[in-house]
Amino acid sequence: MANSNQNIFLFSIDLEDIRLRLKNPENYEERVPVNTHIYLNWLRKYNSKCTFFVTGDIAVLYPSLINEIVSEGHEIACHTNNHIPLDKQTPTEFRKDLEENVSVLMKAGAGQITGFRAPVFSLTQKTEWAYKVLSELTFSYSSSVLPAKNPFYGWETFGFTPRKVNDKIVEIPLTMGRFFHMTVPVFGGVYFRVLPKFFIKGGIKNCIAKTIPAVGYFHPYDIDSTQERYMNPGINDNYLYNFLMYYNRKNVFSRLDYIMNQGFSICTYYNYIQNNLK
Ligand SMILES: [Zn+2]
Repeated sequence: MANSNQNIFLFSIDLEDIRLRLKNPENYEERVPVNTHIYLNWLRKYNSKCTFFVTGDIAVLYPSLINEIVSEGHEIACHTNNHIPLDKQTPTEFRKDLEENVSVLMKAGAGQITGFRAPVFSLTQKTEWAYKVLSELTFSYSSSVLPAKNPFYGWETFGFTPRKVNDKIVEIPLTMGRFFHMTVPVFGGVYFRVLPKFFIKGGIKNCIAKTIPAVGYFHPYDIDSTQERYMNPGINDNYLYNFLMYYNRKNVFSRLDYIMNQGFSICTYYNYIQNNLK
């Protein structure tokens, strides 16, 4: 069991199928189950349990995958039903979406759900109302904030350490690092693949020195070097971003192994909060 004396890696999977956000998704190859199994094997190698933030459509399409994840001892948390950024929803719509997300996840075999991650880290100062909605439901934590300026979503003044945002909800923001003039996530999907390894090494050193957890997210596609190419949804048809979506997927596991070899251990977000923030 992880405790506050260890270096904690809050590794997580945002389990979603970006194919479903394309026109005619049935024309594209199904890749989520195979990639999820690769992650599960990797986690087994380190005897590690992590958190999967899962969208509702995944639970409906692949209930047996949810069962498998649960039976291996991992945590299931919400990543919304329809993966719509929070600023495109009203509080009422958000609440309804969350209730549906919880309901389909539980139907698929998830246990008690207490965690939430906003689509594309869209929880910002503008959508802070989301914490109130979360606290009215069964949630006790969120990991939805990118605490810096960002071309997509960011909350510049949030701060870098996990903290309570109201009576019930703890927010665990992404771990950030300084890369030249930018402050960017160290252990997250595209940043983790694209930025040079010395940047990750620096991020690890910083987490150890400050005894803060390394908070990171990965998607099924982040490790998929054989996936067919298409213009990804949500990047405004930007060719550079699309190129980066595919960049260096083949080295994700060697970079993850490097983190583990620095003495980090992975635990679920739920356990981290129980052991460190209660
Ligand atoms: Zn997502």
